[in-house]
Amino acid sequence: MCSALVTASRMEMIRAAHPTGRIEKGGEEWRPAIFFDRDGVLNIDHGYVHRVEQFTWVEGAREAILWCNQQGYLVIVVTNQSGIARGYYDEAQLQELTAWMQEQLAFDGAHMDGVYYCPHHPEAKDPYYRRQCQCRKPQPGMLEQAIGEWEIDRERSILIGDNQTDLQAAQQAGVAGFLFQGGRLDRFLLSALVQHEQNFRS
Ligand SMILES: [Mg+2]
Ligand SMILES: [Zn+2]
Repeated sequence: MCSALVTASRMEMIRAAHPTGRIEKGGEEWRPAIFFDRDGVLNIDHGYVHRVEQFTWVEGAREAILWCNQQGYLVIVVTNQSGIARGYYDEAQLQELTAWMQEQLAFDGAHMDGVYYCPHHPEAKDPYYRRQCQCRKPQPGMLEQAIGEWEIDRERSILIGDNQTDLQAAQQAGVAGFLFQGGRLDRFLLSALVQHEQNFRS
């Protein structure tokens, strides 16, 4: 399985803090999410980024996350991390970097709700990570897991990725995908949501 770095209690806290973002649907509550790929969307993709010194935020990324927090969108990161399978870094290092990202965001009063990563690769050195999994994008496993755990409304959610495999994963999960090709992420997010709304209506 892919790993979620969010605990249940934190999930409850966040849910309690975002009452306005929820809607009633047949007695159950569903929330929209923005799914973000990590490398090439939230940070510059230098290839197998796993240390703070290698991490450069994309312009507008922190602002985009804060905006999602304020508007009641869950922020869910779904990231292939085959560097773990390849032995370039381990899960502890990834978790350390993720914790650092959360600290950085906290300076702005922002946070990521869920961070899901796939540590696998079909040709991994380590047999523990060597598999044809359902979580490595273009497979939709990480999105499906998050949708189940957070009761996410697929129709009102979108994914932003910089790769066709991101969009394929979104499509398989029934979520609209948008290809980010650089520029400010906060502006891109707003235009993607406007377009999603228009597609939704027509
Ligand atoms: Mg990417
Ligand atoms: Zn996987």
